Amino acid sequence: MTTAIEHHPSDETVFSYAAGALPAALALVVGCHLQYCRRCRALATKGEELGGSLLAGLEAKPLSAGRRESVMAMLDRPVAATATPEVPAANPGQLPSLLRKLVGHDSYDALAWKSIVPGVKRIDLQCGEGEAMLLRIGAGKKMPVHSHGGQEMTLILSGGYRDLIGQFNAGDFADLDGSIAHQPVADADEDCICLAGLDGPLKFKGLIARVLQPFFGI
Ligand SMILES: [Zn+2]
Repeated sequence: MTTAIEHHPSDETVFSYAAGALPAALALVVGCHLQYCRRCRALATKGEELGGSLLAGLEAKPLSAGRRESVMAMLDRPVAATATPEVPAANPGQLPSLLRKLVGHDSYDALAWKSIVPGVKRIDLQCGEGEAMLLRIGAGKKMPVHSHGGQEMTLILSGGYRDLIGQFNAGDFADLDGSIAHQPVADADEDCICLAGLDGPLKFKGLIARVLQPFFGI
């Protein structure tokens, strides 16, 4: 089974990942997306080439006109698969290999999910920098409305959800900054499992959500 990925990290995010400049929690989410997405893998490779080329230039002397042209040409070079490629769908029920190493299990059902609000379960991931977690939103259930103190990156691993931005399915990537308040609602037919990375705490809206916030522990 294949599915088209419609939502990708921004080019800036992929280049930051390639440069090793993202906090670990965010790098984990981007890295897992790259396991599914040929387009973003190609972009990350381009970012690494460009970074190496710029470093080589810095070590020598200011960029010559010819070198500057070649760097600009590299930036302009279209990514190999600019049209959204067909990629294998995230394997339902199976964790991406990067995550398997962190949690020590292959299957979502083998994990020790903790219920945080009715219909939503969570597992904290220890990645050393920022907050990373797996979220399991029950079929047809919704997350409390929330925004973010910093940046939130989310990768859909299984199932799908809809929010004010659109529909997100397995492999899709949501890149949100602190200005957006959203309330993902899982598809009605199956649980939605997401990997989320935060570099700032979630901020819940409304009285009920504020009462619930301590249960999220962030
Ligand atoms: Zn992508």
